[in-house]
Amino acid sequence: MGKVILVTGGTGLVGRAIEYTVKNEPVGSRFGTWSQDDQWVYLSSKEGDLRDLKETMAIFDKYKPTHVIHLAALVGGLFKNMKYKLTFLRDNCLINDNVMWAAKEHNVEKVISCLSTCVFPDKVTYPIDESAVHLGPPHSSNFGYAHGKRLVDVYNHAYHEEFGCNFTSAIPTNIFGPYDNYDLEDSHVIPGLVHKCLLAKKNGTPFTVSGSGTPLRQFIYSRDLAKLFIWQLKEYPEIDPIILSVGEKDEITIKQVAESIVKAVGFEGEVSWDSSKADGQYKKTASNEKLMKYLPDFQFTPFDVALKESVDWFVENYDSART
Ligand code: NDP
Repeated sequence: MGKVILVTGGTGLVGRAIEYTVKNEPVGSRFGTWSQDDQWVYLSSKEGDLRDLKETMAIFDKYKPTHVIHLAALVGGLFKNMKYKLTFLRDNCLINDNVMWAAKEHNVEKVISCLSTCVFPDKVTYPIDESAVHLGPPHSSNFGYAHGKRLVDVYNHAYHEEFGCNFTSAIPTNIFGPYDNYDLEDSHVIPGLVHKCLLAKKNGTPFTVSGSGTPLRQFIYSRDLAKLFIWQLKEYPEIDPIILSVGEKDEITIKQVAESIVKAVGFEGEVSWDSSKADGQYKKTASNEKLMKYLPDFQFTPFDVALKESVDWFVENYDSART
C-alpha cells in the first residue's frame, strides 16, 4: 500500500512547486516520492475551510492521509499584516489547531508545518538560527501572524510529549516562483517588482522601485524549497524546526534583485528609486548551517535562472495568475 500525502494549501506558491517536484523527480530518489503507489493530494480552500474543525475532520476522513505537509495559512504582505493583526493571529491559529488535531486523531505518521522567518525576535543576533524562535517578541508590524506561526512549534513539542506524534516544522526565507501572488499592492518583493517591470516595459514608462535598494534578503526558489520539504518529510528526524534557505553568502540587496528582474524581463527603460517609501528591516540574515549539515551537497538553483523561470511563467500565464 502506498502512502497518502496531504498537502494543505496545495494550490498556493509552495503547494504548486511540490506538485511539480513530485511529478519531475524520480520516484524513490531523495527528493522524490517513495513509490509509484503513493497518492499526493493537493488541497484548495474550495475543498473545505480549515478554520472549521468539522470541515477539516471531513477532509481527513475522506483522504486518510499517512503524511501531511501543512502549508495552508492566511498569508499577506506588510500592509495586510499591519491592518489585520487579530485576523492573522486567529485564522492561522484555527487552521493550525484543526490540522494538527485532525492529524493526531487520524494517526498521521508525520506532519511538517510551514513557519516563516517572521517568527524570529525583532532584536536578535545575526545570523539567526533555529534556537532563537522564542527568544523575544517578533517585529510589531506582524506580531499576529508571527505568534500564530510560533505556536506551531509549541504545539509540535506538546503533541510529541503527550501523544508521541512526529510533528515538525520548516522555516523558509523569502520564497518566489511560478504561481506566486503577483498583485501590485499586496505581494512579496519579487513578484510585485516583476509585475511592475513588465508593465513598465509594456507601457514604455520608468520602472520605479520603492525604498533605497540597500536592504539584504535571502530568497529561495519554490522548486528548491519543494525538494527540501520532500526530503524533510522522508528523512528529517527532529521535532525542532529547520531553516530552509540559501546560505548567508547568497544574501542579496533589493538593488541586485531589481537589476536581475530588469534583465529577466528584458526591460530597457529608466529605473528609478522612490526613497520616500519605507525600506523595512535592513536585514534578517538566517543561517542554513543545520540544513547543510544534513544535506551538504544540495544544489540551489542559481538566482538568475530561477528568476527567469518565474518571469517566463508569469508572462505565459498572465491572464490566470494571481494579480
Ligand atoms: P499562498 O498564499 O500562495 O497559498 C495559500 C494556500 O493556503 C492556498 O492554497 C489557499 O487555498 C490555502 N488556504 C488559505 N486559507 C485557507 C483556509 N482557511 N482553508 C483552507 N485552505 C486555505 O501561500 P504560499 O504558498 O506563499 O505559502 C505557503 C506557506 O509558506 C504558508 O504557511 C506561509 O505562511 C509560508 N511562507 C511563505 C513565504 C513566502 O514568501 N510566500 C515565506 C515564508 C513562509 P486557496 O488558494 O484555494 O484559497
